[in-house]
Amino acid sequence: MQALYFYNTLTRQKELFRPIEAGKIGIYSCGPTVYAYAHIGNMRAYVFADILRRVCEVAGYDVKHVMNITDVGHLVSDADDGEDKMEVGKKREGLDAWGVAEKYTEAFFSHSSKIHVKRPHIVCKATDHTVEQIDMIKKLEEGGYIYVIEDGVYFDTSKFDDYGSMAKLDIEGLQSGARVDDIGKKNKTDFALWKFSPKDELRDMEWDSPWGRGFPGWHIECSAMASKYLGDQIDIHTGGIDHIQVHHTNEIAQSECASGEKPFVNTWLHCEFLSLDKDIKMSKSKGDVLTIDALEEKGYNPLAYRYLLLTSHYRNPLKFSYDSLEAAERALNKVTQHILDLREHADSNVVLSDKAVEHQKQFMEAVCSDLNTARGLAELHAVISDTEISDAEKYALIEEFDIVLGFDFADMEKNKEEIPAEILSLVLARDKARDDKNWSESDRLRDAISDKGYVLKDTAGGAVVTKA
Ligand code: AMP
Ligand code: ZN
Repeated sequence: MQALYFYNTLTRQKELFRPIEAGKIGIYSCGPTVYAYAHIGNMRAYVFADILRRVCEVAGYDVKHVMNITDVGHLVSDADDGEDKMEVGKKREGLDAWGVAEKYTEAFFSHSSKIHVKRPHIVCKATDHTVEQIDMIKKLEEGGYIYVIEDGVYFDTSKFDDYGSMAKLDIEGLQSGARVDDIGKKNKTDFALWKFSPKDELRDMEWDSPWGRGFPGWHIECSAMASKYLGDQIDIHTGGIDHIQVHHTNEIAQSECASGEKPFVNTWLHCEFLSLDKDIKMSKSKGDVLTIDALEEKGYNPLAYRYLLLTSHYRNPLKFSYDSLEAAERALNKVTQHILDLREHADSNVVLSDKAVEHQKQFMEAVCSDLNTARGLAELHAVISDTEISDAEKYALIEEFDIVLGFDFADMEKNKEEIPAEILSLVLARDKARDDKNWSESDRLRDAISDKGYVLKDTAGGAVVTKA
C-alpha cells in the first residue's frame, strides 16, 4: 500500500492518511444540483474527485465512492431563502420538477463521461432517500436538536458546541451582526432540516413527514446518504471550497449530533474554484452556462479540458480562458501522438530498468502527495523525452500513469482530426462578432474559415466547426 498524504481542511495541514478500516477507503462527494447544466467550474470538482478515487485505487486500496444527486427542490441561496432551484428550472423548461431533474442528471453523466470522470460506485438521489432523511431528523429530534417554526423544522446550532469549527466561523460575531430573522429562527446559523409545502401551492415534489407535508432541506440529504452507504464515520468527503462555510458545516452538525457526536469525516478535501475571463458566462442560476458540450461544439476535445485541469493543483484557483484550453489541447495532442508512435513497441513483459523505476516512483509520489497532477504530468513528459529508457519501457510507464490521469491514450485514434488553433480563434472571434451584432464582421469571419477548408454550422449550443 502506497502512503497517501492529503491536505485536510479540518486541520489546514497536509497529513498522512490513515483509513478507518485497513485497506479500504470510503469517499463521499457532494454531487450536482440538477436544475441546470453543470458548468465547467462544477466539472472541476468532479475531475478532482475522480483523480482522488483513481489515486486511492492505484495506491492499493479497495475504494467505495459515493455521490449524491440533488434532485429535490431547494433554495437558490445557501441560507434558507431565495427561489426554489427546481422551480427556476421548471419555469425555464416547461417540464415538471421530475423532468427537469432527469434531463440534467442525464446531461451531467454525459458530460462526465466525455472528460473520463468515472461513475462513482454508488450514485444516490435525494428523492429516493426521503425516508432516510426523515429518520435522521427524528434522531435529531430525540436528541433535542430541532425546533419547528411556521415554515419548517430547523436545526438549533447553539446545541452543538463544535458548530462551525471546520470553517473557523466566528459564531459570536455572526450572532451579534445578525438581523433578527423574520421567519423566527433562533440563531442566525440555524438551518432547515425540513421545509413545509406552501399552503396554497401544490409542489411536484413533496412528502409526508411527522412534522407536516413538505420536502427536505438541502444539507440533510448528504448526511443521510453518507451514513447509509458509508457508515456514521467516513474516510474522505469532497466538495468545492464554497461548501465549507455552510453546507459542510451543517453536514457535520447533523451527522455528529445524530450519531452521538462521533467524528463524521476524518479527511475533508475541497477544491478551489475555476473562474472565467469576464466575457465568458458561467452562472448556473441564470441557465446561461459554459458546459463541456459547448466546448465540444466549438470544436475542442473535451479531454483538453481535463488536461487543463490537471496542469493545475486542485487547491489553486484556476482561471479558464480559450487560450489556456488551446494550449492544453496542443499539449494533449502532442502527448497522444508520441504515445501512438510508441504503440508498436508495446511489450507487456518488459522489465523496467532502474531509470524507468525511478520515473514510476516520482509519478506515484507526486499524485499520492495531495494529488499533485501537475507534477504527475511533468513526469509523463520526462518519460517521453528520456533518451535512456526504451520505447517499450516508455509505453509501459505511460499506460500505468494513464490509469490515474485518465486520458485513455491507448484508445485515441491515430488520425483523429485536429482543428487547428488558428481556426478555433476565428470561430471565437466570429462568436464575439455575433454577440456584438456585428453581422458584416461575422460573415467575413465565416468566409475566412471556409477559405481555410473548414465548415461552420450554428447549433443551439453555439458554432460547430468541421473539416470540409
Ligand atoms: P452545485 O451543483 O452548484 O451544488 O455544485 C456542484 C459542485 O461544484 C460543488 O462541489 C461545488 O462546490 C462545485 N463548484 C461550483 N462552482 C465551482 C467553480 N466555479 N469551480 C469549481 N467548483 C465549483
Ligand atoms: Zn453535500
